[in-house]
Amino acid sequence: MSGYDAAKAGKIISVWWDMKDCPIPEGYDARRVRPSIERAFKDRGYTGPVSITAYADQTQTPCHVLRGLSSTGVAVAHTRPGSTCSHMYRDMVEWRGQNPPPATIMIISDQVEGDFSWDLARLQQRARYGLFLAYSMKQCNDYLLLCFANCRWEQLLEEEEGGAPLVADLGFSPAPMFYCKSCNFDCQSLNMFRKHLSSYKHGQQEAIKPPNTKLLSVTKSWARNYPATPEHATAKIHVLWDMKGCPIPEGYDARRVRPSIEMAFKELGYSGSVSITAFADQKIPVHHLLALSSTGVDFAHTVTWVHYSCMISEFVRWINDNPAPASIMIISDEVASSKSRSKLIGRRLQESNYKCFLAYSVRPSETPLLVTSAEWLWDSLLAVSETRRHILQKCSESERVVASSGMFSCKLCYCDCKSLDAFNKHLSSEEHTKEEHRINTHSQSFPTRHRQFKISKYHDEVGYPPKTKRMKKAPRKGFLPRTLRFTRR
Ligand SMILES: [Zn+2]
Ligand SMILES: [Zn+2]
Repeated sequence: MSGYDAAKAGKIISVWWDMKDCPIPEGYDARRVRPSIERAFKDRGYTGPVSITAYADQTQTPCHVLRGLSSTGVAVAHTRPGSTCSHMYRDMVEWRGQNPPPATIMIISDQVEGDFSWDLARLQQRARYGLFLAYSMKQCNDYLLLCFANCRWEQLLEEEEGGAPLVADLGFSPAPMFYCKSCNFDCQSLNMFRKHLSSYKHGQQEAIKPPNTKLLSVTKSWARNYPATPEHATAKIHVLWDMKGCPIPEGYDARRVRPSIEMAFKELGYSGSVSITAFADQKIPVHHLLALSSTGVDFAHTVTWVHYSCMISEFVRWINDNPAPASIMIISDEVASSKSRSKLIGRRLQESNYKCFLAYSVRPSETPLLVTSAEWLWDSLLAVSETRRHILQKCSESERVVASSGMFSCKLCYCDCKSLDAFNKHLSSEEHTKEEHRINTHSQSFPTRHRQFKISKYHDEVGYPPKTKRMKKAPRKGFLPRTLRFTRR
């Protein structure tokens, strides 16, 4: 039974509802909101008890609406205009802390896209709840969140139109609760609540305290060093290495890449088998290719336009073949720092129990979307085998463990070759040249990409972009803070 199936069977469902964004339609009986939401869940197989909290400036809500909601066990929270979203978010985070999965959550709001979805996408990678969204005017369209449904609020209410009972029939009737978020006040009677909202004390609180308008991101302060859990300690690890952003440094022996990565994992308690695929959209020197292949590193040829999509396709393919628990490592500046490049990966991490690791040559200026168990600076990671040469000698048994040598593949033609000779033959074949030309011409038709193409062509002519200077400038606060001096030829 997956976590989501378990969440369906009788586990709690918690709903946070922004009444200003998604109001009760005129003429609609407030007592029908709860049964409508319950029925929507039931139709999808979710049978657990539903708790609902309605947020708004409740001084503006008519008394009969408040009565209708509270009589059906909907909790009512007063928030000041502009601060509803941040209060809802804070309450949801607190609730998650007290209610570990499996469980289901629903957010009814027009303001999920942005800081909300970014932070929730990270929360969901660590603790996976079944997630439902509803909106009235503005749908969350950034695709950071993996959710089971993102439906229109009005539609959710309409679903009930067939004459469903006015009263919840789950045998679960939570005590009506009223909260004032401005004063941290709560009570169980509507009269007392209304009295509070019109009191001098409440008015004074709101006059003194500035409204809580900024959504507090709770995952930004998360630490990144998480030792292996028993279920992940021996699970498989797949490494996707973007050689464009994180190249082999000059003078570095490419045969040391694999042992360096393996050793970094071992230090954290991960000893599962490691497979590595290196992606490059430019020519890689033959001695590097042979060195990588001899240590069982697969090599994938791409072109600029499809470089990252090839990496992401490979990620999806591997995840499909290797169910969780397992781990994935991404070595790439671009994927680490770009929300759009990493969102598909992030959604898969919200789905199943995979651990994620990142390495980059420059620390991203913002917290990555991907929740990681460890992050490294690429040069520090490569230095692992440098500083532990004696261990490397022993560890070169990892070369023996890798019985077969790495494969060479062309991601443009979906062609796999077992030897470098066969691979080179493929790259100079007419079939490949045609395909590469087709992709390049197609992509160049986009003006924004034309500049990118010229840059990449220039790099092809002169070799790698000058990375060394950037690497020196990078803050050396990596998880493995070791310095590395590359010997130059
Ligand atoms: Zn108050
Ligand atoms: Zn090809």
